[in-house]
Amino acid sequence: MPISELTKERDLRQSKPLWADTPRIGVRSGTTPDADRYDTIVVGAGISGALVAHALHRPGQSMLVVDRSEPVMGSSVASTAMIQHEIDTPLIELRKMIGRHAADRAWQRSARAVLRLEEIVSSLGISCGMARKQALYVAGDDMGSRALKAEAAAREEAGIAARFLGPTELRNDYAIERTGAILSDISASANPAQLTAGLLRHTSGAGAEIVSHLEITDLRNLGDEVVIATAQGRILSARNVVFCTGYEFLKSLESPKHKIISTWALASAKGIDPPDWLKSHLVWEASDPYLYLRTDRDGRLIAGGEDEDNPISYQSKRKLAAKTETIRSKVEKLLGIDIGEPEYRWAAAFGTTVTGLPLIGAVPGMRNVYAVMGFGGNGITFSQIAAEIIAAAVNGGKDPDADLFRFG
Ligand SMILES: Cc1cc2nc3c(=O)[nH]c(=O)nc-3n(C[C@H](O)[C@H](O)[C@H](O)COP(=O)(O)OP(=O)(O)OC[C@H]3O[C@@H](n4cnc5c(N)ncnc54)[C@H](O)[C@@H]3O)c2cc1C
Repeated sequence: MPISELTKERDLRQSKPLWADTPRIGVRSGTTPDADRYDTIVVGAGISGALVAHALHRPGQSMLVVDRSEPVMGSSVASTAMIQHEIDTPLIELRKMIGRHAADRAWQRSARAVLRLEEIVSSLGISCGMARKQALYVAGDDMGSRALKAEAAAREEAGIAARFLGPTELRNDYAIERTGAILSDISASANPAQLTAGLLRHTSGAGAEIVSHLEITDLRNLGDEVVIATAQGRILSARNVVFCTGYEFLKSLESPKHKIISTWALASAKGIDPPDWLKSHLVWEASDPYLYLRTDRDGRLIAGGEDEDNPISYQSKRKLAAKTETIRSKVEKLLGIDIGEPEYRWAAAFGTTVTGLPLIGAVPGMRNVYAVMGFGGNGITFSQIAAEIIAAAVNGGKDPDADLFRFG
């Protein structure tokens, strides 16, 4: 198979995201693998590869994590890292798409994944500014107050706490003029680059080998082993191989069920003066295209949205300026504050699926090869779900929710 035929190759982002300028995002990595055979090879060293590697690593077993670029520096460094259990597809919509029981399970699983991720970060002592937040989902042109009320009721039925706020409560408590909102718990935010790097450093410290600038270009089953080739002509084998290559997914997994689009984000200068409540909340709106925003610990406001279906329009410099200006003025309109000239503006490829759920599991037609992909606005939460599902599959078990996310 010729080079670049195995996974899609993209420029994942345009312009420098905020997190690329933060400390503790480096991961020591080698330039060539020490061995020819490993128990597990994880391809991709972003947040999904970092969480999968952490979940799969066992003392005494060999693991290699490879990336064709630098670890952390793919989509993960561009993430705005609102770590939400709220899936982009509202529960009432998802119930119509995949049935009530399955939709409820997907939402419940997502909530558990946020809690589990919080536990991992705390137990490993990863310093990444992870903080628990409430989420405020405000009415927009996709969902008005009636639909949000029904959505809050559906979530409550599924056992996921959600409180509908009417316009008066929204105005009094948040000074937001919308017809309604849903207030929920179980969300968080973090520095996604520090989170990814911290996880990778931990797994490397526990014995996993990390190699950067090594591209995987071919893949075969040979007996019980998975054999992979690198662009440098090296042949490696492993018992299990997991592709965590984000929006540069395995070409064999291309499908009308998911697509790559474009998205934009900005970060204000430090020390702007947002309303006090915003420090403990994530905000997003039920509109298309939507706006979402949060603050970080340095007092910056981070906002994003304005998604476009075109898979490469994020590469346009003109659009970067125009889209981020739109985001800035939408923030001003919603919160009544001027965040000033953004210090960072960036754009990136983004993935969406028809259901809003990720695709996770065994790659059809192959043995012991797994992939995690199709992440949208919940990429970090879904990466945690992926880590749990892949760990169960590799260890010979079956995750009770694996059917919700599998390929095919
Ligand atoms: C602007 C923006 C905002 C976002 N906001 C949020 C948010 O608020 N909350 C949230 O949860 N999610 C958000 N997301 C989504 C989330 O960031 C992504 O889902 C997540 O970062 C994807 O991580 P990953 O590890 O799968 O991919 P990546 O970080 O891209 O890592 C994949 C790695 O695989 C490597 N690779 C690819 N092919 C090969 C190969 N053949 N051989 C070797 N290596 C290879 C690449 O070099 C890359 O480093 C956002 C995304 C963007 C772009």
